[in-house]
Amino acid sequence: MKRLLIVVPCYNEEEVLPDTIKKLKNLLKRMIKQQLINDSSQICFVDDGSIDNTWTIIEKECHSSKQIEGIKLSRNFGHQSAILAGMLDNNADWYVTIDADLQDNPECIIEMIKKAQNGCEIVYGVRKERTSDSWFKRVTAQMFYKLMALLGVNIIYNHADFRLMSKRVVNELKKFPERNLFLRAVVPLIGFKSDKVFYDRTPRLAGTTKYPLKKMLAFAWNGISSFSIVPLRMVTCLGFLISFIGALFVLKIFLNYNEHGAVSGWASTVTLITVFSGVQLISLGIIGEYIAKIFVEVKQRPLYLIEKEINK
Ligand code: UDP
Ligand code: MG
Repeated sequence: MKRLLIVVPCYNEEEVLPDTIKKLKNLLKRMIKQQLINDSSQICFVDDGSIDNTWTIIEKECHSSKQIEGIKLSRNFGHQSAILAGMLDNNADWYVTIDADLQDNPECIIEMIKKAQNGCEIVYGVRKERTSDSWFKRVTAQMFYKLMALLGVNIIYNHADFRLMSKRVVNELKKFPERNLFLRAVVPLIGFKSDKVFYDRTPRLAGTTKYPLKKMLAFAWNGISSFSIVPLRMVTCLGFLISFIGALFVLKIFLNYNEHGAVSGWASTVTLITVFSGVQLISLGIIGEYIAKIFVEVKQRPLYLIEKEINK
């Protein structure tokens, strides 16, 4: 029988955590009883630098049950780093990552394990519907998946970070040393046999989202710019297009040279200067974004630092 580790990233989740712990503990017990996993399986809560009582709750649980493991990061490193800290710093046969608010149905883990028993190395949790999300979140999220596909980034539609990965896949994941981490796009790059389980996404049990619009946009842009060079290519295409238009314009001026006086044409000149300055600045900005990415990668700073660990 295999050892399962459920990794739960937590950032200021004091409101929802007691309920989540109860539900996941119950699930783990049932799975051990059904002999789907062995009894050394654990739930690992990673406190991503919370400023509320999240760590106190985790610590208390760890002391009352050996099945709970706690990792406290030295500060807030972000959702993706918290997930990684839980997985890379452990030794299990199967890893499942799930958000602390249980918006992703934990019961699906049973189905994931059954698929893993049949030889799947990765099982993606895919949302059937997003009726519980606000209209805005639904539309922007859908736009994001479509845009990623358009830009040639291979991600699973409607899959976030609820997935099962085998020990083998997590070991391969260690070979991706990137700092701009976007697991959703990295995991499909690993390959191996994979499958999906489908579920309905429910509203948050308690508390508020830790992903406000600003963070979501930054996350989306990180996903795009870390995995697609299409924006840079678009700049080049735009350059060609504008050069072509410019050439046509020069031709027009040349042909009309004798018809009009030399002074006229001020408006068109100014228009052209403004439009092209804008285009140039945007293009430089996009190139700058990619250079900034290289800057971050080159420094190779650690993705997370661990302050404390309990029950490992
Ligand atoms: N989270 C984290 N670090 C952060 C932000 C979020 O570990 O800096 C965790 C959070 O506690 C939750 C998960 O990431 O378990 C997803 O966050 P949330 O549910 O707020 O995002 P949403 O579902 O609204 O996109
Ligand atoms: Mg959530």
